[in-house]
Amino acid sequence: MNCPRCDKVMLQTRPEDVEAQQCPQCEGHWLEGEALRRLESTVNVRLFEWRKLPSEEYQARAVACPRCRPRGIMKKVQSERDRHVLLDVCERCSGVWLDGGELRAIQEMGLVVAISDAVRFILKT
Ligand SMILES: [Zn+2]
Ligand SMILES: [Zn+2]
Repeated sequence: MNCPRCDKVMLQTRPEDVEAQQCPQCEGHWLEGEALRRLESTVNVRLFEWRKLPSEEYQARAVACPRCRPRGIMKKVQSERDRHVLLDVCERCSGVWLDGGELRAIQEMGLVVAISDAVRFILKT
């Protein structure tokens, strides 16, 4: 799959893991299925240490789902804990896109809380 931001081919974060992919350019993450449930063991926290949260303008830009495109614009889901964190969630495949930098902010406020926002949204739809 290609990155919804820069259209680069995304790489699997681990060779055996097709449900967690990362863009080599913007460091955004794509997560779906089981990868969402074991996020902490999937994602390398150190990759994000030097990153700042992306600008609001950047985050607010619509993102097409890399799995479902050309159909499927992802919905913005604002984290309840940190309103600066906007998750992009696809209603069709229940995948989640995290911009580079968002993951660190999410980890600081509690990963489970942030992902539960996304999962709650998916269940509602
Ligand atoms: Zn990218
Ligand atoms: Zn999708």
